[in-house]
Amino acid sequence: MTPTSIRPSLPPSKLPHVGTTIFSTMSALANEHGALNVAQGFPDLDPPLTLRDAVKKAIDDGVNQYSPMTGDPKLRLWISEMYKGEHGAIYDIDNEITIGAGASSVIFASIQALVHKGDEVIIVDPAYDLYAPAVHLAGGVIKRATLPLSPNKGEEEGAIDVSKIDELISDKTRLVIINAPHNPTGACFTRKSLDELSIILSGTNIFLLSDEVYGPIVHDGRPFLSAASHRELHSRTMVFGSFGKLLHATGWKIGWVAAPRFITKEIRKVHQYDVFSTGAPIQRGIANYLFTDQAKQHLSELGPIYEAKRDRLLAGIKDTDFIFTPAEGGYFQIIDYSILDKRSDIEVSREWTIKHGLATIPLSPFRDSGKSSALIERRVRICFAKDDNTIDETILKLCAIDAYYKSNRPLLDV
Ligand code: PMP
Ligand code: GLN
Repeated sequence: MTPTSIRPSLPPSKLPHVGTTIFSTMSALANEHGALNVAQGFPDLDPPLTLRDAVKKAIDDGVNQYSPMTGDPKLRLWISEMYKGEHGAIYDIDNEITIGAGASSVIFASIQALVHKGDEVIIVDPAYDLYAPAVHLAGGVIKRATLPLSPNKGEEEGAIDVSKIDELISDKTRLVIINAPHNPTGACFTRKSLDELSIILSGTNIFLLSDEVYGPIVHDGRPFLSAASHRELHSRTMVFGSFGKLLHATGWKIGWVAAPRFITKEIRKVHQYDVFSTGAPIQRGIANYLFTDQAKQHLSELGPIYEAKRDRLLAGIKDTDFIFTPAEGGYFQIIDYSILDKRSDIEVSREWTIKHGLATIPLSPFRDSGKSSALIERRVRICFAKDDNTIDETILKLCAIDAYYKSNRPLLDV
């Protein structure tokens, strides 16, 4: 037979509304224009020296072949002791904890393992960009529970409003995906929100995916509440963590899922054919580091260090016309620029990057992509996981942007 060079035509896209993630897009734009990048969420702090040494040592010690599919046993041991000690939650090391290539890979695997065609999945809106495409690929249908973006004041300030989730539950709901501390708003769980969630889910067959990758990064004396700690929620819940966030090492891509045995069994069926296992020497180095006193101190300082950075940023822009509610957890701060500019966040964040040298993340990509054209969002997200010089530079740029708008206001208002 004569070979032909006909190019096969693509089938319809499985993700027709998906483009390059906003994080990659804004980082590329920042690089292109030499802008300060407080957009994509990564610290510019180094992982602790003893941790880096521990990873190098693991390579030199010959830990260079596949780790077990479930993850390094010593790392799983640390995770199980952490849940027991900090959250009173028991996870069996062999059957209930799995290490993935970042939290991303095990979140993805969990969604593929549990969601069937036509199943409904409730996510909070705004939501981290990974969930919806993963649900679509599994054939699921997304229902969005819209959260207030300026959290209510008072005792429950910033609490995830779970009553919105209740309104969306139907007999087709398979999974609720929740994220606290929340990206991008910083909202945290309260005891009350977890209690309410457990009442909403009780008597149903609904699973809970609790993305807690910003875990202990909580501010203003709040406790870090994990859904794992809730007695009633525990049996239907998968909790996720990321060493990228905890150790200033997002590029290492080591994360985990902890879930009851019957759920873990299904997650691992996907995980073993997805990544199978991830960076063995990095896992071992992290495990060896985590059992040291330096690691205990590092983890206990994480919240206060980021809180001081948040405060530094907000004190620096307090006299501008940006509106903000201090983030309650995580390392992102939302600022509302609506007093200064009425245009959409996509347009404005591009312009700030190109013209003012400051790259931020627009909020609308965290919303329902189908509706974003109708919704004019006037908020951007700033990553404050940066050294103090970068934060001071961010403040200077935001103040300059504020001043620019004020001096050009008559022009911009026409
Ligand atoms: N969930 C949320 C809310 C995130 O912000 C991120 C991003 N880093 C992840 C999951 C993924 O974490 P990892 O880098 O460990 O894959
Ligand atoms: N989670 C990071 C953020 O929210 C980005 C991770 C990524 O680029 N995929 O900025």
